Formats: sequence, C-alpha cells, structure tokens
Amino acid sequence: MSAHDLDGLKAVVTGGASGIGLATAELLSARGAQVAVLDLDPSGLTAPLLGFTADVSDDASVRDAVAGAAERLGGIDILVNNAGIGATGTVADNPDEQWHRVLDVNVLGIVRVSRAALPHLRNSAHAAIVNTCSIAATAGLPQRALYSASKGAVLSLTLAMAADHVREGIRVNCVNPGTVDTPWVGRLLDGAADPAGERAALNARQPTGRLVTAQEVAAAIAYLASPAAASTTGTALAVDGGMAGLRLRPE
Ligand code: NAD
Repeated sequence: MSAHDLDGLKAVVTGGASGIGLATAELLSARGAQVAVLDLDPSGLTAPLLGFTADVSDDASVRDAVAGAAERLGGIDILVNNAGIGATGTVADNPDEQWHRVLDVNVLGIVRVSRAALPHLRNSAHAAIVNTCSIAATAGLPQRALYSASKGAVLSLTLAMAADHVREGIRVNCVNPGTVDTPWVGRLLDGAADPAGERAALNARQPTGRLVTAQEVAAAIAYLASPAAASTTGTALAVDGGMAGLRLRPE
C-alpha cells in the first residue's frame, strides 16, 4: 500500500487528542489526509492536525464542530468515531446516571457525529466510517457490564449503519482493540496497589506477551478507512494480540 494512499482525502477523528485517536490522526495525516480532531480538549494538538473542541454527548457542540471541520477541510471523506469512556463493575455497581452517561458518550456519541457528517460523506467518492469498538463487545469480560453493553451496541450499530449506507457508497466498519497501551490503561494501572506488577501481569495475560500499541490499532483503522478496503464493509477487525480468537493451552 502506498505511504500516501490517503492523499486528498479529508478525515475527522473524534477523541483524537490522546491514545488510539491521536495515533490514528497522526497516521492518517502521514498518509496524506487532511485531519480534523474533535475532542473535549484539543489544545495539545500540533499542526498539521486541526483541533476542534467538541463533546460528543452534546448535539449542538457536535453539529458546530462537524460543520466547522467540514468547512475548513472542504468536505469529509473519512469519519473515525473513536471517542469513548470506560466503566468498571457489575450491573449492581453502577447507578442509572452512570449507565446513561457511558451510553451517551460511547453509543449516542457515534450517532450524533455520524448524523452530522453523513451529508458530507454522501458527497465523497471514497466515504468510510470506522468506529472504535472493543473485544468487550463479544467477550464476556468480568467487571465490565456497562462498558461491554456500550461496545456491544457499537458493534450492532456498525453493522446496521453499514447496511443502511452501502448503496450510498459509504462503508462502515469497526476495530475491536484488546488491551491497548494508552493513557487510559496508564490511568488504570496508576490506580493499582502495584502498578509495575499489574502491568507485568497484564502483559503476561496477552497471547502475544505484550499489550497492543495505539499505532497498531491506528494501522487497522487507516486500512479500513482507505480506498484499499473498498470492498470491505460491515466488519469488525480485531487488533487484540489474539485475545478474542485464541484458546492457548497452559504452558
Ligand atoms: P484515551 O483516554 O487515551 O483517549 C480518549 C480520548 O477521547 C481523549 O482525548 C478524550 O478527551 C476523548 N473524549 C472522551 N470523552 C469525550 C467526549 N464526550 N467528547 C469528545 N471527546 C471525548 O483512550 P483510548 O484508550 O485511546 O480509547 C479510545 C477508544 O478506544 C475508546 O472508544 C475506547 O473505548 C476504545 N478502546 C480502548 C482500549 C484500551 O485498552 N485502551 C481497548 C478497547 C477499546
């Protein structure tokens, strides 16, 4: 694949100021796309990335930011719905307000940004949406009831959107990352009694023996967003070091 296979394309990345989103924005830009990042705090971004302040849980803020990005870029070909927040615990542990909050960001956030971007995507000859889902969508992880439910909805939404928009020439796919070494995971580890020991244990639990990198997830997103994936829609691509698919025997 050419290093500049996204030349001339215009991309919007939500949650692009950190972690997977930042790695994706940087990679899309390196491959030739013009990139606008929508984030709660885009102040740390540097050129050529364009930063727009947006809260995906606030429809007016999303509409303003998507309109601003489309105007600055001159259209939108690629939308990466990556902004998301975590939650731990069983169904007994989170009150309704927390369920509403996480679903509002992780699921309705995708709805709002996609709704605002669709009129622009319809004008593109290479339109693609990539949603950041998670292996939690299908894995049955303990202590992740709310987060898993939100990502299960992201997976279903990805498939439904792919069906709804395929005849308009808009492809919709998602990536299912495993445990990715981002500031998010860093925050979880920092809160542990023994951060170094916890990190070593987390690495050991991965079939590959190490966490996934944000750049590896970005590479999968960039592929699904690129014209090279023109016949790929309605799929979930795992980038999880083998977590979801492999059943290793104990050594
Ligand atoms: P991160 O915390 O490093 O980055 C998340 C970014 O999203 C931040 O810049 C934050 O400001 C932004 N954001 C949060 N809420 C927002 C809102 N309401 N509106 C706009 N922006 C908002 O996290 P990350 O690890 O890079 O995670 C990114 C995505 O990847 C999330 O959807 C997450 O569920 C998913 N994911 C992460 C992992 C992992 O192990 N890190 C695994 C699977 C899936």
